[in-house]
Amino acid sequence: MKQEVRLEPPSLLERVIRLVYPAKCMICDSLLREEASLMLCESCHTLLPRCEKGFVKMPSMPYIHQLFAAYYYDEGLDSAIHAMKFNHQPRLSETFGYLLYEEMDKVSYLPDWDMILPVPMHRRKKRERGYNQSELMALSLSRHLKIPVYSDLLIKTRYTRPQSSLKREERLMNLEGAFDVVNDTAIAGKNILLIDDVSTTGTTLNLCAKILYEKGAAFVYAAVIAIVEK
Ligand SMILES: [Zn+2]
Repeated sequence: MKQEVRLEPPSLLERVIRLVYPAKCMICDSLLREEASLMLCESCHTLLPRCEKGFVKMPSMPYIHQLFAAYYYDEGLDSAIHAMKFNHQPRLSETFGYLLYEEMDKVSYLPDWDMILPVPMHRRKKRERGYNQSELMALSLSRHLKIPVYSDLLIKTRYTRPQSSLKREERLMNLEGAFDVVNDTAIAGKNILLIDDVSTTGTTLNLCAKILYEKGAAFVYAAVIAIVEK
């Protein structure tokens, strides 16, 4: 039986902050109710470009067993995801973690995952930004799915240029050999769900899955907020 999912209401501190900076919809900027948990107004929530394909095999990502995308990438999501990545607002990653769960919960049968792993950020980049948005989303999703997140098992060993700045053929070279697993025993035989914000060419997720399989993972699934339509 499916359990009722609730999001944490805003804390007292968040409510105080909202007196000065009122909570706004992450897509249309309209003002939200003071006690809003999701940073999304009802009409934007209804109009999100839902993917509704469930878990699918992607020819562009041979190492990903199956990929789940909540939405198709569009302008509204683009600015909301950008805000989650660059202006630290924990409510946004919380909102996206919930939205991912909301769409996933419509799938009749979810695989029995042992763990959730966020796509890692190089430690220098994480220090610069202050957080890894995929990790925050994974933590939020984990609370809804009740599956543990391990943020330090899969790591990024090289500081690389942003994938979005590169041509398709440069993307693979940029990331080749950039990921590693810290503790092989911890992932051996495990059923893993990888989390990232957006999938464009799938290079990042595919390379993460490749190293996980090389280190003995049983199955590697992936879930993203949005997929760029080809
Ligand atoms: Zn809105």
